[in-house]
Amino acid sequence: MTDKATIAELQAMVRTLPDFPKPGIQFRDITTLISNGRGLSSAVAHLAELARADEPQLIAGMEARGFIFGAAVAAALGVGFLPIRKPGKLPVPTIGVDYALEYGTDRLEIDPDAISANMRVTIVDDLIATGGTALATVQLLRNAGADVRQALFVIDLPDLGGASKLRDADIATQSLMHFNGD
Ligand code: AMP
Repeated sequence: MTDKATIAELQAMVRTLPDFPKPGIQFRDITTLISNGRGLSSAVAHLAELARADEPQLIAGMEARGFIFGAAVAAALGVGFLPIRKPGKLPVPTIGVDYALEYGTDRLEIDPDAISANMRVTIVDDLIATGGTALATVQLLRNAGADVRQALFVIDLPDLGGASKLRDADIATQSLMHFNGD
């Protein structure tokens, strides 16, 4: 790989779009980071370094942007990848968890056969905002018997409090960069 991009360089590759998907939201768009070869490989290298320290046996990533970073981190570590899916996508009997959104509820599902008892699993996603998605993922994996201790994100929006909620659930939570004011 060419020299690894710094966190400041990676942060400059994230595009901010005001009022998407609705008024008042500052959308942090990682597509500009992943379309840059040095950006993608460097973000994955930074995440893989953090993941390696926890010696996970499996990486779990949330649909859809968590698949991009999670699968790459798993490949870098030589461990498997577990997709955390939206409802109705998996072709096998699943276990799932329902969780609250601002309006209504959503559901995440996994193939329970992908987890063996006390397997050490690290969660990877592009961004943590309120933490609702990540906390539901932790609950789902723990229900399946996993030992979940670590969660990694490219971006943290600390004003929305998700990372502190995850830490309260005994998850070592780290992000490559943060954006204030959301
Ligand atoms: P949350 O459950 O509130 O932590 O939201 C996490 C998910 O929503 C992440 O997987 C992000 O992909 C997406 N998301 C939430 N807020 C933003 C934002 N401001 N910019 C980009 N993506 C966001």
